[in-house]
Amino acid sequence: MKIAVCVKHAVDEAELRLDTEGRPVLAGAAGKMSTFDKNAVEEGLRLKSAHQGEVVVFVVGAAESKKTLKEALAMGADRGVFVAADPLVIDALRTASMLAAAIRRSGPYDVVICSEGSSDTYTGQVPPMLGELLGVAYVGYARKIEVTGGSARVERSLEDSVEAVETSVPFAVSVVSEINEPRYPTLVQIMQASKKPIEELNGGEIAPPGTISGVEVVSMSSQPSTRKHVMIEGGPDEAAAKLLDALSREGVLK
Ligand SMILES: Cc1cc2nc3c(=O)[nH]c(=O)nc-3n(C[C@H](O)[C@H](O)[C@H](O)COP(=O)(O)OP(=O)(O)OC[C@H]3O[C@@H](n4cnc5c(N)ncnc54)[C@H](O)[C@@H]3O)c2cc1C
Repeated sequence: MKIAVCVKHAVDEAELRLDTEGRPVLAGAAGKMSTFDKNAVEEGLRLKSAHQGEVVVFVVGAAESKKTLKEALAMGADRGVFVAADPLVIDALRTASMLAAAIRRSGPYDVVICSEGSSDTYTGQVPPMLGELLGVAYVGYARKIEVTGGSARVERSLEDSVEAVETSVPFAVSVVSEINEPRYPTLVQIMQASKKPIEELNGGEIAPPGTISGVEVVSMSSQPSTRKHVMIEGGPDEAAAKLLDALSREGVLK
């Protein structure tokens, strides 16, 4: 089975700085593999161990994104494809069209796996766009995937229910974090990953220019949070009593 997994090199939200007007400083911000993409890689590896074959990981982004590819290779993916693009000027459809072009060039694939949304901008638009551009069925929010021969049964995690669907192979799918527990690579695997092949492509050359969603991000700002910063002093008994009193006054305790 040939499995493609899309991994985003996302902004590390724990390291993100805000400017004086509360806007995130994205230029030069630290990055990491988008959190749920670890689940996407893990699911690719799980399918490979059940059906044999190959797991190929794809990233669209700046040169730094290769770190994320290497992390996926250390987890056990066989090879990587790096699509060079400026992450600050691309949009969701542009990302999907570059991924689709790269996947087509190195395919065909039986399954294309994304996660439900990236841990930074979390639009959730790339996976369905990718399915459409590749001309395959798309199943979103998978919490279980079983492939048997030419078809697959997928359980979709919806807000208050689980929906089971069947689709033919090939298909594209986005996974939710409950689908599996991502593995941690060992030191040996991290060292071996540096020897695995990474193909380099230019996003501007492989995907037609002008393919953009028409959606424009007009502003990005942090959510203002109002905190009261109540300091409680005194010994354990006194502090506990004051804390209970403060929580009751706030209506937290009835
Ligand atoms: C400053 C700034 C301006 C922006 N302006 C626009 C704009 O004008 N219009 C617009 O539509 N968007 C805009 N974006 C959003 C940005 O283009 C998207 O974040 C990006 O294209 C796709 O990420 P996403 O969060 O939408 O992915 P999602 O759809 O939430 O990601 C879901 C999954 O798709 C896959 N995936 C997503 N991106 C990649 C990738 N780069 N490489 C490999 N796999 C990937 C991963 O599996 C991921 O888990 C802007 C972002 C920034 C930071």
